[in-house]
Formats: sequence, structure tokens, C-alpha cells
Amino acid sequence: MCEFCVKHGDGKKWYLAMENYSRELLHQQDRIGYMSYFANTFEERVPRSLTQLEKLSRTPFLNIAKLFLTPSQKRDHFGQIVPLEDMEQILAQMDGIFRLSCPCRRVTTGQKNARYCYALTADPQLAAEVDNSFSLEVITSSEAIESIRTLDKEGLFHSIWTFKTPYIGAVCNCDQDCIAYRISYSRSYYQVMFRGEYVGRVDFDACNGCRNCMRQCHFGAIRYSVANKKVEIDVRQCFGCGVCRAICQNDAITLHARSADPVAVKIW
Ligand code: SF4
Ligand code: SF4
Ligand code: SF4
Repeated sequence: MCEFCVKHGDGKKWYLAMENYSRELLHQQDRIGYMSYFANTFEERVPRSLTQLEKLSRTPFLNIAKLFLTPSQKRDHFGQIVPLEDMEQILAQMDGIFRLSCPCRRVTTGQKNARYCYALTADPQLAAEVDNSFSLEVITSSEAIESIRTLDKEGLFHSIWTFKTPYIGAVCNCDQDCIAYRISYSRSYYQVMFRGEYVGRVDFDACNGCRNCMRQCHFGAIRYSVANKKVEIDVRQCFGCGVCRAICQNDAITLHARSADPVAVKIW
């Protein structure tokens, strides 16, 4: 279990605790103001921060800055990878969801209307404060689940995001265009999200060595053995997103609890 499960989930998966999505929480601590500021200023703020981080990463000071940056992210805006089946459980409980265009992809791809983000709880005050360019569209739980299943097959990994933790206000569907992915993983500046509560495992008897799953994994966790003509998953690298399963025609990959894996248990 990650530290948020201990703090905000009574030792169970914190993102399945529905009180972390409540309207009551949304309307406390000026969360709506925080969320709308976050979205409305994203395109202006984030490229500047990325340039500063890049400069900082060429000095020894990044390691010192990490000591402050990650705790402040954990307090305000932190994510976790969540596999499809848990995401379906979350979405099934929601009474109204906004789909909106993805702020990260505006910055990294220039696409203004890549609709991969979901704001949880379709709240009228939030709709009034978020810039019209995000063109919020209200969708039902079933529509969100249907759409996330399609994105899973396309290889996008899913995550949940807090806005002033523990309130969970967004579900994201990401690939290498995601700024959180770049900050946490590809550039390794500092941690902005936890890995998933799972790790992947390959059934050697079922694997035919086609290597399709290697293309689907954004985290470089799948290795191919020429000698065995099979793949295996390095649990130290695996983020537990589960999207490798969607492409395997032999159902050779399954997810298992990170907490039960002696190697991965402490890797978040
Ligand atoms: S975390 Fe993913 S879906 Fe969310 S804004 Fe970034 S790229 Fe878009
Ligand atoms: S997609 Fe499935 S069968 Fe192909 S290499 Fe990966 S685990 Fe093996
Ligand atoms: S190997 Fe792990 S990180 Fe890679 S796609 Fe599969 S579950 Fe995700």
C-alpha cells in the first residue's frame, strides 16, 4: 500500500474510498478556485516551470529542491497510476463527470482539444470558473467507462489526481505527451505520482514471444530473452498500469499486488 492508502484510505486503496471524491471536500479549502486556477493558467505557467527545472537539473541543486518539491506536490496535486478495473470501479460511483481537453497536450503537442481528461464531479461552480476553451462536456459513468476501455486498448495508462489532497478531482489518460510522466519518469526531475498498487507478471507457458507488449509499455519494464523467446517484466521498473495486457492475444500478462512482491513492495 502506498502512503496515501495509509493516510487517506484506512489501509485499503485510498482511491476507492468514495469520501475522497465528495462534493463536501470539493467545496472546502477553495478547491474550486485552486482547480480553475490550475487549468486556466496551465499553458502559461508550466512551460516556464519546465525551463527552470531543466536549468536546475544541470546543477547539483535539483537534489535539494526535490526535498521540497515532492512534499509540496503531495500536499496539493499528486497522482497515482490506476489500472482499468480499479478505474472502472471509481467511475461507476460518480454522479456526473466532465470530459475536457487535456492541459498537458496543449503544451507538449499544441493540440487544444485532445479530450483525455475527466474532472470528477460535474459541479456547476467548477464549470463556471474553468475557461471556456476546455469545452467541458458532461458524460455519464457508463460513457466514461466505455471511453476509458477504448483508451486502454490504445495503450494509454490511467491515473487519478488530487487537488489539495486527499480530494481526488481528475482522472487522466496519458502517454509520453504527459508532463507528469516527463517530470517523474522520462526526465526524473522529481516525483509527482505514485506507481500503481500492482505489478505485472508474465505466464511463460502462455507467452509466444511476439513482443507486442513491449511497444505498449511506457515504462521500459518488459524485457525480451532471445534464449527463451519469451518476455519478462522487471517489477522494479513496472508502474502497474496494466495496459500491456490489452495487446496480448494470449492473455499471458496479469497484475498482482505490489504489497505481495518482495522486490517491488517498497518501490513507489
Ligand atoms: S496528466 Fe495526462 S490526461 Fe492529465 S492533463 Fe496531463 S497528459 Fe492530460
Ligand atoms: S504480447 Fe503476450 S505473447 Fe506477446 S510477448 Fe507479450 S506477453 Fe508474450
Ligand atoms: S509492464 Fe508494468 S508498466 Fe509496463 S505496461 Fe505492463 S503493467 Fe504497465
